[in-house]
Amino acid sequence: MQLIAIKQITGTILLRSGLHIGAGRDTVEIGGLDQPIIKHPVSGAPYIPGSSLKGKMRALLETSIFFTRPDTQKSVLEGKPCECGRKDCPVCTLFGSHQAPKDCDPDLGPTRILVRDANLTPECEEQFKNGRLPMEVKYENIINRVQGVAEHPRPLERIPAGTAFVLSMALKVFDGDKVEELLQHVWQGLKLVEMDALGGGGSRGNGQVRFEELKLDGEAVDLDKVAVFDHK
Ligand SMILES: [Zn+2]
Repeated sequence: MQLIAIKQITGTILLRSGLHIGAGRDTVEIGGLDQPIIKHPVSGAPYIPGSSLKGKMRALLETSIFFTRPDTQKSVLEGKPCECGRKDCPVCTLFGSHQAPKDCDPDLGPTRILVRDANLTPECEEQFKNGRLPMEVKYENIINRVQGVAEHPRPLERIPAGTAFVLSMALKVFDGDKVEELLQHVWQGLKLVEMDALGGGGSRGNGQVRFEELKLDGEAVDLDKVAVFDHK
């Protein structure tokens, strides 16, 4: 397989509601929130791990393709990633196969998409450094059905709406790849994330995002024109 191009996908990820991507228990500071967000260990600045965006794109693409591709039904129904490992599967080609290499189509090749960690845009970075971009704390409760009152408030740290991050992805193109089909699935994945959410608590309003100034090798891409559920 010959690598013939690496396409650069750039843009801005704009938060339309507070985003919570959890840091995990092992990084909780003493006396800190019990649900902190992930931050750079040195600067303390929030960021969106590439794995979070990549994972969400993949999961949403799989569940949308599931309806049109019987071969992916079983694993998706079981809540697992697509395990087909076939060259004609855009999800496995783009995001990598979860099957052992020996069970994969030998022509599948390396994972095509690379999603970089999204750091704050220079403007937001400046605001953060000057203390003008405070993180917000949202209290999420459980409603007592009988008494109709909120109980057990849990503080959830969120990056506030309006914060913007730098989107940066790369698409490796190998000899024989159907570039247009792969790109179509990248745009569909991004559009699906806009229609769904990033991070935790999406069903409770967290993590609404919009991808702006999207570009492929410097050329503008219009996500509004992407047919999200067309997987021909
Ligand atoms: Zn697959």
